[in-house]
Amino acid sequence: MRRDGMLRQIRERARGGEPWDIAVIGGGATGAGVAVDAATRGFDVVLVEAHDFGKGTSSRSTKLVHGGVRYLEQGNVPLVMSALKERGLLRLNAPHLVHDLAFVVPNYSWWEAPFYGIGLKLYDLLAGKYGFGPSRVLTKEETLERLPALEPEELRGGVIYYDGQFDDSRLLIHLMMTAADHGATLVNYCPATRLLRDAEGYVNGLIARDDETGEELPIAARVLVNATGVFTDEVRRMADPKTEPLMVTSQGIHLVFDGSFLKGNSALMVPRTRDGRVLFVIPWHGHAVAGTTDTPVDAPSLEPKALDEEIEFILETAGRYLSRPPSRADVLAVYVGLRPLVKSGNGEGKTAAISRDHVIHVDNSGLLTITGGKWTTYRHMAEDCVDHAITLGRLRDAECETKSLRIHGYRECPDSTNCREEPLEVYGSDEAQIRALAADSALASRLHPELPYIGAEVVWAAREEMARSIEDVLARRTRALFLNARAATEMAEPVARLMARELGRDEAWIETQVKQFGELARQYTV
Ligand SMILES: Cc1cc2nc3c(=O)[nH]c(=O)nc-3n(C[C@H](O)[C@H](O)[C@H](O)COP(=O)(O)OP(=O)(O)OC[C@H]3O[C@@H](n4cnc5c(N)ncnc54)[C@H](O)[C@@H]3O)c2cc1C
Repeated sequence: MRRDGMLRQIRERARGGEPWDIAVIGGGATGAGVAVDAATRGFDVVLVEAHDFGKGTSSRSTKLVHGGVRYLEQGNVPLVMSALKERGLLRLNAPHLVHDLAFVVPNYSWWEAPFYGIGLKLYDLLAGKYGFGPSRVLTKEETLERLPALEPEELRGGVIYYDGQFDDSRLLIHLMMTAADHGATLVNYCPATRLLRDAEGYVNGLIARDDETGEELPIAARVLVNATGVFTDEVRRMADPKTEPLMVTSQGIHLVFDGSFLKGNSALMVPRTRDGRVLFVIPWHGHAVAGTTDTPVDAPSLEPKALDEEIEFILETAGRYLSRPPSRADVLAVYVGLRPLVKSGNGEGKTAAISRDHVIHVDNSGLLTITGGKWTTYRHMAEDCVDHAITLGRLRDAECETKSLRIHGYRECPDSTNCREEPLEVYGSDEAQIRALAADSALASRLHPELPYIGAEVVWAAREEMARSIEDVLARRTRALFLNARAATEMAEPVARLMARELGRDEAWIETQVKQFGELARQYTV
């Protein structure tokens, strides 16, 4: 993916006067899914993202590809079944990124083993042929073997079940590359600033601004898809300033610790915290990630901040289950994501609720909004959205291709539990090219002793994955910022120097970038 080439395509299309079939606003999981779906059906697609791909919620998830055990408790069987099917399809289509993960629910009361044992059997049953492995009740010894860091006092046993785990922003970049492989045009740092309307008041295009140069880019399109997550209403207001809001927002935080707090390859699942939520502590890239919370938020922002009480809540809850309770000093990073939640029964125009999970909404202006849902179901959401776009824009009929579409980087993993330990495994079939770059010994060594990332990844990200800043590389092309904010800060300057060479930037750029990244990284510490 080359950003200047993408911009050239947008300019040429504007000069030619032919509209795009579909213009997508928003480069998170939802927008990327729509771009992949539409491009593989043969439509002309352009996607604009205001910041970097995945800057919003889609890089800040719990990293689970799951059916949602929680929804089962709420009795929402169709939703769980549909998510379990998507979980299975995603593992088939991106085996380099989606791995099985064993979850252990520890039991400290007599009723927990039969209660969770039966519930999780139902979870297995609903997965059908997309199952990841049978759940079963564990003895106390087996539970501690799986989770050696668990608090043993009063432990009676546990229940084990299986779900999927992934690297969210890596999958996002590979989805963008899949869309590009199929002819889509995608640009980051290019916000939609205005929507255009025809004589009858229907939206028929947008103006995007290249934030690197300030250039305004007119984009005419038959259908405009609003996939902006928690920013959905801001874009809807561009079409109609008086429109009723559709969204409410809540935030969830995660704390990241050294892997020794969890030990082993299994995740801990606490089915009911004192505020009635589920808490996970999962092994991820050699670390332990604990989350999450659910705190209402007034207004969306790209860098939401963790509240002290959220940090304390996770420390306290995780500490009750771990034999070595973590403290604030043990937190290597904190990251915060905002949930795009749809208000029920609100908004003007026609709301076609496809399921209780995601919502497709057509405003009176013809703006097609897709929102809600979760990462796991992005493919199904995109299929629904493009089906609607075909009707709305009177596009030619074309079947969805994504159920068996291999995602960029596709490579089978011979052992689904072990190969995730390899640092370059997430690149899948691109790994060979990164290794080729690392033949230059200056790019082969680690950028920081506490993290596995090497210089070749920085060069690759700038050259092939449209990374434009240190943050793009350290937060989303690699996961340094999310794993260890201090180490990421210490990596900033060498990363800036490698990027400057690739992108033709000067000393002043390096200095500004290092300063800006340092300020950002401070928000990821507690
Ligand atoms: C704490 C937390 C944990 C989660 N864990 C999981 C999990 O484990 N598994 C799972 O399946 N799901 C999970 N989810 C849900 C999942 O992460 C989200 O549903 C999903 O990422 C939403 O993607 P999105 O593309 O709709 O939104 P976003 O990722 O926020 O993308 C929207 C994009 O639109 C861009 N944008 C905004 N305005 C404009 C504009 N004017 N022009 C251009 N672009 C614009 C933004 O910059 C942003 O990048 C979790 C969510 C949260 C909050």
